[in-house]
This record gives sequence, C-alpha cells and structure tokens, in this order.
Amino acid sequence: MTDRTKKLREYDKNFIWHPFTQMKEYEKKEPIVIEEAEGVYLFDTEGRKYIDGVSSLWVNIHGHKVPEIDRAIKEQVEKLGHSTLLGITNPAAAELAKELIEICPTGLKKVFYSGDGASAVEVAIKMAFQYWQHKGKPKKTKFVSLENGYHGDTLGAVSLGGIDIFHATFKPLLFETYKAPSYYCYRCPLGQTYPSCEVACAGEVEKILSEHHNEIAAVIFEPYVQAAGGMIVSPPGYLEQVRGCCDKYDVLMILDEVATGFGRTGKMFACEHEGVTPDIMVLGKGMTGGYLPLSATIVTQEIYDAFLGEYEEFKTFFHGHSYAGNPISCAAGLGNLEAFRNYNTLEELEEKIEFLEQELREFKGLKHVGDVRNKGFMVGIELVEDRETKKPYPVKMKMGWKVAELAMEEEVLIRPLGNVIVVMPPIGISMEDLKKLLTVTYRAIKKTTES
Ligand code: PMP
Repeated sequence: MTDRTKKLREYDKNFIWHPFTQMKEYEKKEPIVIEEAEGVYLFDTEGRKYIDGVSSLWVNIHGHKVPEIDRAIKEQVEKLGHSTLLGITNPAAAELAKELIEICPTGLKKVFYSGDGASAVEVAIKMAFQYWQHKGKPKKTKFVSLENGYHGDTLGAVSLGGIDIFHATFKPLLFETYKAPSYYCYRCPLGQTYPSCEVACAGEVEKILSEHHNEIAAVIFEPYVQAAGGMIVSPPGYLEQVRGCCDKYDVLMILDEVATGFGRTGKMFACEHEGVTPDIMVLGKGMTGGYLPLSATIVTQEIYDAFLGEYEEFKTFFHGHSYAGNPISCAAGLGNLEAFRNYNTLEELEEKIEFLEQELREFKGLKHVGDVRNKGFMVGIELVEDRETKKPYPVKMKMGWKVAELAMEEEVLIRPLGNVIVVMPPIGISMEDLKKLLTVTYRAIKKTTES
C-alpha cells in the first residue's frame, strides 16, 4: 500500500461518518480510495481498476468522463458558479428546463429544481398538499404509498417509505400514510400469481382510494421498479391501472422516477412503457449523467396554475433550496442530454437489454437464486436459502455482502440490497464490459452460495 493511500484512509477513518454504513465494521476495513475514472471503470489510488457495476449508486448514465458533460461543466465554470433562482434566472437552468419539458411525457409543463432526490420528493409532497388547499378541498391531505417503497431519507420522504429496516426507527417523527401492497410478484403479498391475478395489487390501491379519496391528496410510487426495496419489478399494466384510479377518484399521481429516469429501464422515463403521464414527476440521480447533485419536480399546467394569485393572497409555493437551478449542475444536465443524442443511447440500449436478459437466464440455474428480475438495466437477483420454500437467508449471514466482497476481489463493484444482488451499470457500458460484469457476478454468487 502506498503512503498516500495509507494517509487518505487515515483521514477518512478519522474524520468521515459514511452514509448507510455501520461504522464499527467500516473502521476495521481498508476502504478502496477511488480517484479517477474512465468510461465504466473506476481507478483507485493503488492503481487497481474496477467496473462500476452499480453506476456509483445508480447515478451514472453514459460512463465517467463524458466529453459532452466535461465540456459543459468547464464552459459553465468559466462564466458563473452560482446565482440564485429566487426571483431571477440563469441560462443553463432555463435551457435545461426547456429541454426537460421536451423529453418529458406530454402534459408535464413546469420544472421546479432542487438538489437531491429526497428534496424533490419533499417538494412533490408539499405541492400536492398545497394544491388541494388552493382548489378548495382542504381535507385532501393524506398520501398513499407502497410497502417496500423508497423515496429518500428526509422525513417527508421517509413517511412515504415502506422499508422497515430503514424507516421504523423514525416512526414517531413521521406522518401517517395509507400503505398499498408492494407489486412484488415473487413474494406476492396477496398470495396470487401473474397474470391470473389481473394485477390485483393495483386493485388494492383502488380499494384505498374508493374508501378514502375525500382525504387523499396523492398516490406516490416508483414506476416499474421499487429500487431500494430490492429491485422489485411491477407487472405490466400496474401503472395504467393506478393512473385510471387516480383519475376516477380525483387524486394526484406522483411518480418517483429518481432511480428509473434517464434511460435506466430502457425508455427515457419508466412511465413511457405504459404511456402514462403523472401529475407530478420526480427526477434526480441520472439527471446530470452522474456528475453533480440536481433534481427536479415536474408538474402539469393545472398544478402550476393553482398556485397563481396576487402577492398578498399567499398562494406562493414557499419552498426553495439555496442551490436550486445551480448553473454548473444544470450545464451538466444539458451535457447529459447532448450525450443521449450524440450516442443514440436509447436506441443502442435495446440490443444491450436483449443481451443482458439472455445472460441473466443463466443465473436462474444457480441453486440459491430464487428470482432474477429486471426492467431494462435495473437488475435484481434474489438469493434464497431454499428455492422451494423461498426461505430467505438470515440477515446475519450477510449473503449479499459476501457476494459483493468476492466480486470486488475480481475488480467489479456491486452493492447488494440485503439478499438481493443489484446489477445496474451505466447504460453506456459496452457489451464486452457487460459480459465481464455478469460473468464475475455469476461466479461470485456461485462460489459464495454453493461452497
Ligand atoms: N427516490 C428514489 C426512487 C430513490 O431510489 C432515491 C435514492 N436512492 C431517492 C428518491 C432519494 O434520492 P437522493 O438519494 O438523491 O436523496
């Protein structure tokens, strides 16, 4: 180990508290220190290179060091680092908003910028809530969200969340929501099987709405993939059915596309798979191609208009973050969309998804793989102790982690969600690197679970 790596590790351990990390365990480890990247490869200070198998936590889109994004950021830095969006504007924020509306599902018209996914979810919650106040239906204050859902770590977002290990501690701080079952086919909470179920999980949302719509502001969920919940993939038709219920009962539909947006599921946005336009769409993560924090809450004209009024009416949306519409982040966002165009990213992706799905079939033959699921480039491989009974591995065995650690020895970075191995590389990855990523993952699963 070089002296430099040693020194950096020491600083890190002395001064950083890492997110979602048990620091007692972390302190015993020698973390890798990533300092450079190229394409889908990350390089550490020891000269080792790793495939970025989870897109640096689901943010990276085209790979690292994308010329379009690099250039956009450099040009912006030369001109302006930051200026507020409160009451004035900047070119990058205006241009990106225009481009986003052009690619968003028809009907979405206005972009409200924030920094992280969770902040953009908070914005969606507050907008939906305030919208009904302005519409003269002040009793519509509650939200419907899903079991296994995840929307970020701020308290509003946690209130909507449905992952007990992350969320239970904070229960006394949270507002109550109606929880609909997860669209988890492998472990159907309704004990049914697709397609004979006729997507009964969507029917459960309808049941809640039919009884309580007078007090419900919005339904929120992740379209097609409950990502942090374990890469759970919805059956087709779910989105459309829930859209129909929201219309029927006059309830807003909020789609959290923070993880699914920007090509990850094979289309620019997951809701496009069913031609659905939400009333509010939340974007983050891949918005800057994985370079800088930037998120957006995008709404229909109808919602925007409800907030218009005279100054003294206080219909204003009183919410905003210091770095909203940051020009450098927005420039990265523009560079990201330029790269989509230059590399025909979405068109090229179709063939890669076919290849990925073909390769994933192999995993089903592994003795301890219970379920292999994907929507586009979002892949979950669920490990089980017993395939017949679907008995999960006990948490204490840390099976997912063991697989990831073995893969790391072979220079592939993946990060599990409990017993679910997540594979989610940049969508710009080459077939060759994708093959390597899957081969190492397969070997790591086999070796960990079968020996
Ligand atoms: N929504 C979804 C669907 C997410 O997957 C995440 C992050 N994993 C968030 C919201 C929160 O985003 P952030 O971490 O940027 O706050």
